[in-house]
Amino acid sequence: MKNSEKTNDTKSANNSKETIVQPAKDAATKLRELFIDSLKDIYWAENALVKALPKMAANATSASLASSIKEHHVVTKHQVTRLDQIFDLLKHKAEGKKCEAMAGLLKEGDSILEETEPGAVRDAGIIAASQKIEHYEIATYGTLVAFAKTLGENDIAKLLTQTLSEEKEADCLLNEIALNAVNIVAAE
Ligand code: ZN
Ligand code: FE
Ligand code: FE
Ligand code: FE
Repeated sequence: MKNSEKTNDTKSANNSKETIVQPAKDAATKLRELFIDSLKDIYWAENALVKALPKMAANATSASLASSIKEHHVVTKHQVTRLDQIFDLLKHKAEGKKCEAMAGLLKEGDSILEETEPGAVRDAGIIAASQKIEHYEIATYGTLVAFAKTLGENDIAKLLTQTLSEEKEADCLLNEIALNAVNIVAAE
């Protein structure tokens, strides 16, 4: 590609007015601000999960599924505390900002309950919804760890890595329960 073409390409990409979103007055200008905004998002999400997980556990028939969700409920409360610690380290008030993604995932989880008979099929649905949630959290904490490292916030990166491992562990456990038990019974 010729140099002149390259310049034109960049220019036209930046000129498509219909796709360029005007930033809000309080829009983040530095990675640190985006980092804090992302922490508020996951803080809201984890708190929403603390409220939502007992209902998921109550609707599970498989004892191993119910106990794994209850266990993750305890872990999730610790994750909220860990985020409180992180806000403390950043000398920033711990506050949540609605996470539209988690709100949507939880809403979808509720629909799955309505759309399935209690038993193995509902359990398979609960696992599907829970794994979407865990994957969202894995993506979020992966990004947060990377941001923390770039910002030189190594103690915070360590705390976030701990949570990231817990989310991965929860996801693996759900996989095992689905593949070794729930899905097989649900297919019968
Ligand atoms: Zn979120
Ligand atoms: Fe979590
Ligand atoms: Fe979000
Ligand atoms: Fe989780």
